[in-house]
Amino acid sequence: MIIKKNEVPLKLRGLEALNSRLSHSYKKQSGIAEELRIVRAGVNGERILTNIFLKYSFLDRHYIFHDLNLQSTGLFQLDTLFLSHQGAVIFEMKNIAGDIKFLHESRQLMRKLENGQVDVFECPSVQLERNKFLLEDWFHSNDLKGFPIHGVAVFPSPRQRFENIPENLTLLFPLEIPVYIRKLMKSPPIIDTQALDLIANKLVASHREFNPFPICKKYKIDSEEIMTGVRCDQCGLHEMISTTRGWICKSCKHFSRDAHKQAVLDYFMLFGNSLTNKKCREFLHLSSIDKTTRLMKQMNLPFHGEKKGRKYTLSLKELEKQLLYLKKE
Ligand SMILES: [Zn+2]
Repeated sequence: MIIKKNEVPLKLRGLEALNSRLSHSYKKQSGIAEELRIVRAGVNGERILTNIFLKYSFLDRHYIFHDLNLQSTGLFQLDTLFLSHQGAVIFEMKNIAGDIKFLHESRQLMRKLENGQVDVFECPSVQLERNKFLLEDWFHSNDLKGFPIHGVAVFPSPRQRFENIPENLTLLFPLEIPVYIRKLMKSPPIIDTQALDLIANKLVASHREFNPFPICKKYKIDSEEIMTGVRCDQCGLHEMISTTRGWICKSCKHFSRDAHKQAVLDYFMLFGNSLTNKKCREFLHLSSIDKTTRLMKQMNLPFHGEKKGRKYTLSLKELEKQLLYLKKE
């Protein structure tokens, strides 16, 4: 049973907004584009894990959590946590392509791409060990002692070549996961169903949504570097002009009824959770106060204050919901 899904990758959405609104000539642009690439690869990797658990089912009682943020003796984030009577398994997705050689002494791995490029990363065993300790501490403070915790590094492609895999590292490809779990579930139970259900509920209650916003503050980007305007999803330019029925792109003539919605959400992700009519007008390149009010009303943005003092605010949960709606529409 999947009880904690990963719905909207907030950091990815924020970085996409930032990257699309930075000029290519800006000195920090390439660094942001690289960060976006890394975060996107991570999200894609997590999606592979999610799909495996959606595709395969297991008969005995179990719980699956994706993207769980917890705190024990330190803050930690788990890509996927599997919980059964027999123990817990932390799955960490490693979306690192290429030939991989593990360097035992430095606890790193070296990967070589086909074009000859060589990069060095931390060995996944380091992160798994850290997360195992922190989860053990969390179990401990929730009266669950001696519950086995296994750590598994998952690499996406079975065509990958590995050299020197450390003995203490369990390395699987996605399709090997169901077999690994079935084997685990054949071992004798450590806790009863009541204790398993209790700990699963406690995990959900302890999850804290990680807030990556405001993105500009996080990446120390000056607000003046941000391109304003409504983005055309056809040509990518922020050159949509408001018409009576919606928005039309000055450059490619693409029409959209609600292109402003993404721009408003971009504003919240980039600059924080408060927006005024004036700021909204500046950001969307609108001149009419009434039209701006109407558009913000359509989006059901919660607000407080009246007239000029009115401030629209969006909590992280509400922002997540709005991003989810926008994707579905
Ligand atoms: Zn366009």
